[in-house]
Amino acid sequence: MSERRIVVVGASLAGAQAAQTLRRQGFEGVVELIGDEPHPPYNRPPLSKKYLAGETDYDSLRLRSMADPDELNVDLRLGLRATGLDVEAHTLHVAPAEAGAGSGATAEPHTINYDGLIIATGARARRLPGVDLAGVFELRTVDDADAIRAAFDATPSRVVVIGAGFIGAEVAATAREAGLEVTMIEAQDSPLQRVLDRDAGMAIVDLHRGHGVDVRLGVGVASLVGDDRVSGVVLDDGTTIEADVVVVGIGVIPNTEWAEDSGLTIDNGIVCDATCLAGSDVVAVGDVARWDHPRYGLMRVEQWDNAVDQGSYGAKRLLASWAGEAVDPYAPIPSFWSDQFDRKIQLSGMPGEQFEIVQGSLDEQRFVQIYSDAHGAPTGALTWNRPRQSMQARMLLESDADMAEMRDTLGG
Ligand SMILES: Cc1cc2nc3c(=O)[nH]c(=O)nc-3n(C[C@H](O)[C@H](O)[C@H](O)COP(=O)(O)OP(=O)(O)OC[C@H]3O[C@@H](n4cnc5c(N)ncnc54)[C@H](O)[C@@H]3O)c2cc1C
Repeated sequence: MSERRIVVVGASLAGAQAAQTLRRQGFEGVVELIGDEPHPPYNRPPLSKKYLAGETDYDSLRLRSMADPDELNVDLRLGLRATGLDVEAHTLHVAPAEAGAGSGATAEPHTINYDGLIIATGARARRLPGVDLAGVFELRTVDDADAIRAAFDATPSRVVVIGAGFIGAEVAATAREAGLEVTMIEAQDSPLQRVLDRDAGMAIVDLHRGHGVDVRLGVGVASLVGDDRVSGVVLDDGTTIEADVVVVGIGVIPNTEWAEDSGLTIDNGIVCDATCLAGSDVVAVGDVARWDHPRYGLMRVEQWDNAVDQGSYGAKRLLASWAGEAVDPYAPIPSFWSDQFDRKIQLSGMPGEQFEIVQGSLDEQRFVQIYSDAHGAPTGALTWNRPRQSMQARMLLESDADMAEMRDTLGG
C-alpha cells in the first residue's frame, strides 16, 4: 500500500479531515490535498458570526486538522483547481486557479494519476442572476467575509439581506449588533420552510424583529438598482428599499461541474452509495456528497459536523475497500447549529410532520421541540439555548429512542 497515491480535491473542512484521517489510519503512501482557494484550510461558521463582527482574527479560523501539513506528510497544494476527471483511467486534470495565487499555482495545467480519490469540493454561494453592482455580496469564503466587513465599516451603511436562511439571518444579526440599519427579505411567508416548521421559522422572525431588524416576508426581489454601486432593492410589490450593502443568502450550488464528464453520477451533488462510494476508488464527502442514508434516503447536507464525520468516514472507507474489509453504511444523525443574537439554535436529526414543545416556550425563545413522523416516531429535535438537550437528542435518536423516552429525557 505504501506506493499508493490518494488525492483529496477540496482543501477545506471535509478534505482536511479526510487527509488527516488517512495518516491516522496508518496510510503511508502519498497524500495530496488540492484546493483552489489561496488560503490554507479554514473554518467557515465564524465568517457570518464572530469573524464578521471583528471579534476573532484570521488565525483563529485555521483548521487544527491541517495545522501542520508537513508533520502529517500531506502535500498541500493551494491555488490549484481540479478541471476534469476520468474515473476509469484514474486521472485528474488540474490547472492554476488564478495566475500567481497559492503554492500549487506555479504549475501548468497537468494530469495527476491517482489510486484513490476523495472528492470534497463543497458548495459555492448561489448568486442573483444578472447582478454586477459594487456593494452586492455573497458569503462563502474568508475573502467574501473581509469584503462584507469592510463594507459594514464604511458609512452610511444600510444593509439589505436577501434570504432569511441561516446564513442570511446570521449576517443580519451580526450587522444589527454592529448598529447598522438592517432589512431582511424572505420570499416565502416564513423562513427556512425546508428545515423548520412554520412556528419555529416565525420565532426567528420575532427574534430579529425584537432586535430591530426590518423583516419582510412573502415578497420577492424584482431588481437591484444603482449606477456602479448598489443603491436600492426593488421588491415584487413595487417598494424600493435603500441599500448601501446587499448580502445575498439564497442557498448554495454544489461544486461538481469539473467532474461532469468523469463517469460519476452527478445530480445535486456527487451521488454515492450508502458508504459514500461514488465510483471505482472514488469517495465523496462533505457538502458536495449526496449519499444514500439508510434512514433518510438520498441526502446532501451543508453542515459542519457532517463535513468532519464524513471526511473521516470517507478516508476509512477508501482504505477498507483496498483491504477488502466490509464497512457499515454512513448513517449519522445530522446536526447543526446557528448563532443569532444571543440564541443558539440547534437541530438534531430531521424535522417531521408533527412537532411538540416539551420544555420552555416560543415566547421565552428558549425551548426544546421534538419532531415526529406521521406514525409518531421521533425524527429530530430543535432546541433554542438548550445545548445539553441538543446533544442528548442526538444520542437518543442514534439509539432509536421512542417518543416517550424523548419526552422524558428532553422535557425534564
Ligand atoms: C458563512 C457560513 C457559516 C456557516 N455556519 C455554519 C454553522 O453555524 N453550523 C453548521 O453546521 N454549518 C455552518 N456552515 C456550513 C459549513 O461551513 C459547511 O458545511 C462546511 O464548510 C462544508 O465543508 P466542505 O469541506 O464539505 O466544503 P467547503 O467548505 O465548501 O470546501 C470546499 C473547498 O473545495 C474547494 N473547491 C471547489 N471546487 C474545487 C475544484 N474544482 N478544485 C479544487 N478545489 C475546489 C472550494 O474552494 C473550497 O475551498 C456555514 C457555512 C458558511 C459559508
